[in-house]
Amino acid sequence: MTTLYLIGNWKQHGSRASIAAFASQWSFEGHERLAVAIAPPFPYIGELGAALPNCLLAAQDCSIHEQGAHTGEVSVGMLADVGCRFVLVGHSERRVHHGETDELIGRKLAAVQAAGLTPVLCVGEDSATREAGDQNHAVRAQLGGALPAIASQLLIAYEPVWAIGTGLTATPDQVDDMHAVIKAEVNALLGGDSEIPVLYGGSVIPETAEALFGCPHVDGALVGGASLDPDSFAAIARSARNSLSD
Ligand code: PEP
Repeated sequence: MTTLYLIGNWKQHGSRASIAAFASQWSFEGHERLAVAIAPPFPYIGELGAALPNCLLAAQDCSIHEQGAHTGEVSVGMLADVGCRFVLVGHSERRVHHGETDELIGRKLAAVQAAGLTPVLCVGEDSATREAGDQNHAVRAQLGGALPAIASQLLIAYEPVWAIGTGLTATPDQVDDMHAVIKAEVNALLGGDSEIPVLYGGSVIPETAEALFGCPHVDGALVGGASLDPDSFAAIARSARNSLSD
């Protein structure tokens, strides 16, 4: 039985007032095979959980350290303590702007799994790589560089860098082809038929959601900009729900 995952990434946006406004407008009827989560900035995780009880909680990043003299860091134990279920790891904005390497991302991934939470490993090629036709090779290299030996408790988000926050959504064919490549590579790396869910991210909006959820290899979406608007995010969630056969 397939489960779909829809995760909103609020990045560095939000306030107590915007969470209250979001919650007062948020209208969505859940489904047992659809997990909807939001990753707000760290300070708002608890507030969001209280305001949106039918939404799961996610974090945008984590530390590799359990505790100690690491100013500014947030551990996976703390994230579990405040009710997070998912942690984004290796988002392209962290790779590009914070110099995160595959090696560091792999350590974060292992830390998240060890705490009993589910990492969402983000991978995706930049525009030059796509133009050169090297996207499959680049994404396989990111997977090989970061994946742990543990197949369970893992989601992967395919997020082509050229589609993030640009309004350029990858076509359903481009997405489905890459998701098939990712699933095959994960099975080759982890062995067997691990059936790791693969989400798509990159300028998903209500108008593009239905076609994306209709792709056979798409198991959900990671949504940035459109997740800040409760009506848009709920419309994307409804598309996901409608794509689930009863
Ligand atoms: C993201 O930040 O993960 C993302 C997919 O952003 P957007 O939907 O705005 O492209």
